[in-house]
Amino acid sequence: MTYAQPDSLPDGDWSLETLAVRAGQVRSQFNEHAEALYLTSSFVFDSAAQAAARFSGEEEGMIYARFTNPTVIMMQERLAALEGAEGCVATASGMAAILATVMALMKTGEHIVASRSIFGATQQLFGTILPRFGIETTFIDSPASEVFRAALRPNTRLLFIETPSNPLTEVFDIAALAQVAHAGNVLLVVDNCFCSPALQRPLEFGADLVIHSATKYLDGQGRVLGGAVCGPRALIDEVFKFLRTAGPCLSPFNAWVILKGMETLALRMRQQSANALELAQWLEHQPQVERVYYPGLASHPQHALAMRQQKTGGAIVAFDVRGGREVAWRVVDHCRLLSITANLGDTKSTITHPASTTHGRISAEARAASGIGEGLLRISVGLESPADIEADLNRGLTA
Ligand SMILES: *Cc1c(COP(=O)(O)O)cnc(C)c1O
Repeated sequence: MTYAQPDSLPDGDWSLETLAVRAGQVRSQFNEHAEALYLTSSFVFDSAAQAAARFSGEEEGMIYARFTNPTVIMMQERLAALEGAEGCVATASGMAAILATVMALMKTGEHIVASRSIFGATQQLFGTILPRFGIETTFIDSPASEVFRAALRPNTRLLFIETPSNPLTEVFDIAALAQVAHAGNVLLVVDNCFCSPALQRPLEFGADLVIHSATKYLDGQGRVLGGAVCGPRALIDEVFKFLRTAGPCLSPFNAWVILKGMETLALRMRQQSANALELAQWLEHQPQVERVYYPGLASHPQHALAMRQQKTGGAIVAFDVRGGREVAWRVVDHCRLLSITANLGDTKSTITHPASTTHGRISAEARAASGIGEGLLRISVGLESPADIEADLNRGLTA
């Protein structure tokens, strides 16, 4: 794999805000200011000898966009810089990143330990598709690291978590779980979608790999699908080898959109977190609201842990309304500003009723056991004024 040398940013100890704007850019012979979009599927060689050298790996350089593309490499390098990772490989979506990780690093007969509160499609992949290939997953219902330790087997290869979890914002102790994983010779994989590297850098706490759905906060404006895996070069090279052969790679156009999206990542996450905190505090004072789930609130059971490993509480707020599904749906249906969609991570705030959407296919008992009640609503807080968001919710709450 060819790793471009970022040439718009001299070596140095740059802050995250600076890296978000400048890391990874490589300029062409035209010395363009903005990152160039290379919409090309293949690359031309000077001679038969050069073609042979490129294919044999003797000479570094572009061959075909399923392998590498300069715009995709710029996006990978920028994200690697933000996560503090040696390497990054971009994928067609967040799910493609998770699939590529499993396919590259696991084989039949091996085992995954994963928290139950992970993205629905990840649960489906681990629970229903991988077993057909002889890879079993044990799902853990608790954030306690002893429970994860007890589930490890000699054939366990990956310990997989998302923190904070969706939709209840449960926080998992990355450093403690890294110790558990490493003691068992297991890799800790963290899906960092909810925080993004602007708020949480799992590798600093000992995680081995970081997964992203770039569809969420990295793009941040709801435009494209994308994903990525970040980590040490040796592991990333394995994921890349799978990807260049199997093909779920990121399109150059999507890479370019995400690359430009990352420029405002730190800014957006700061403001969206501040809006989320304000909204969470307001919700705590509404009589129709039974409970608020937000790691930035002192009332969150893992507030101290969250503040140790995250810069802010993030921009996802969940809450239980009194009156179950009827009142929850009333709140949703009275929204004129918030978008009714299960998507998250956008500058536009969204609202969803998990029990009838994202978690609707799970049995009612399993849902109740995981704490996802009929009165639960989840908001992905965007950049609108918190006062306007509160007014939107208040209409349904007081109807
Ligand atoms: C959306 C999401 C994914 C999947 O990403 P896609 O880009 O939709 O494939 C994985 N993990 C989390 C936490 C997500 O929110």
